[in-house]
Amino acid sequence: MKLDPRCVSIASALAFALGAAPVLAADAPVHAHVHGALQLDIALDGPTLTLSMEAPLDSVFGFEHAPRTAAEKKTAQDALAALRASGPLFTPDSAAGCVFKSASADSEALQPGAKVGEHADLDMTAEFTCANPGQLRRIDLGGLLDRFPRIQRLQAQIVTAQGQFRQTLQRPARVLTWGR
Ligand SMILES: [Zn+2]
Repeated sequence: MKLDPRCVSIASALAFALGAAPVLAADAPVHAHVHGALQLDIALDGPTLTLSMEAPLDSVFGFEHAPRTAAEKKTAQDALAALRASGPLFTPDSAAGCVFKSASADSEALQPGAKVGEHADLDMTAEFTCANPGQLRRIDLGGLLDRFPRIQRLQAQIVTAQGQFRQTLQRPARVLTWGR
């Protein structure tokens, strides 16, 4: 996978500023900002399936600042609309009978007064209601990968009544499975 040179230079600069101490040596999982790599949290609580995604804005928009041109504004609007109607992007196990309920998506880069020239993330949350949540063992992410070709890899954390799972999905794989 291609590491964005800007990310590397920022990490290097930070390491220098901190006296070259290891920057990512925390105990808690660190959501590193790596272009092409997403963090996806999947939580199943009763019938409610919640998908929470954190993505480098570059992986969704193809740029990482507030939209400036008409073309960038359209790209951003279309991407947000696709995420907010995210039923087609995520296909849970049909056995689980999940129906898309609602979703939200936004980025700090789109807020008024957002600083320009910094890395930015996009956050999305989608909710489904599942008739047979105990049957949920997989989610097909093909819709998401087709819609956003810059996404290369997802790190998923899955929390269900069956336990907690961690999975990494890398193209060309499209289906996240867990807990057999
Ligand atoms: Zn970035």
